[in-house]
Amino acid sequence: MIRLHNISKIYRSQGVETRALNDVDLRVQDGEFLSIMGPSGCGKTTLLNIIGLLDTYEEGLFVFREQDMSLLDEKAKLIIRKEQIGFVFQNFNLIDDLTVAENIELPLHYLKVPRSERQERVLEVLDAISMGHRKDFFPYQLSGGQQQRVAVGRAIVSKPALILADEPTGNLDSAQGNDIMEMLARLNDQGTTVVMVTHSSHDASYSQRIVRLMDGEVTSEKKVLHAPF
Ligand code: ADP
Ligand code: ADP
Repeated sequence: MIRLHNISKIYRSQGVETRALNDVDLRVQDGEFLSIMGPSGCGKTTLLNIIGLLDTYEEGLFVFREQDMSLLDEKAKLIIRKEQIGFVFQNFNLIDDLTVAENIELPLHYLKVPRSERQERVLEVLDAISMGHRKDFFPYQLSGGQQQRVAVGRAIVSKPALILADEPTGNLDSAQGNDIMEMLARLNDQGTTVVMVTHSSHDASYSQRIVRLMDGEVTSEKKVLHAPF
């Protein structure tokens, strides 16, 4: 699904150059669940943002679903982002003055999905994330774990092929965090590709492969061994 070849990213601000990524090579297969780990500042978020078409790169090749992303203009990238990628962030990033149901519905508005279809899909997602009983609540009325469940709901409502999660449990206690990880694992079982940035080895144990970054370079890669049940 994803192929990065010799990707480099250089930030320039106030006369300072930071090489955030240096010659990164990475492949993600369809249906895979990949964790990206490494110390703060090693380039994890930059890598995730490039994969999510939220950020550009200076050098290298990025192929997403057989398409060279350097050939696309902003508009074409926006369409891919809306139709094919769901995002989950550490800080939930819900819209404060929209209800749970409205937050989840928002991506379908952007995709101009007809109203009746939107409502039907929102009900399905509320059910999937067990938030039907809170559909008219506002984010401030929810616990962190519930807010992240809504954020996952918003990410999956358009049935994206890929979910990108940046420290999805970073602001949650362990029970809420496990709940979110189980949701991501379940989505992956159902065929959604997941790429997650995390500091937590426990969270990474839900994935199938761990890539480690250090100073903008991939330093190791290993498969996660899942104990047989
Ligand atoms: P991580 O997610 O692993 O903590 P980041 O991808 O956020 O790392 O950052 C990688 C490096 O790039 C860091 O040195 C960071 O300071 C730098 N960086 C990130 N974003 C910017 C930016 N917008 N402008 C300048 N430097 C940045
Ligand atoms: P659910 O029915 O989905 O399990 P609950 O209503 O039982 O959710 O709440 C789960 C947790 O979130 C509880 O610990 C509850 O105290 C907390 N919580 C719910 N609403 C708020 C709120 N407005 N502020 C802070 N914590 C809340």
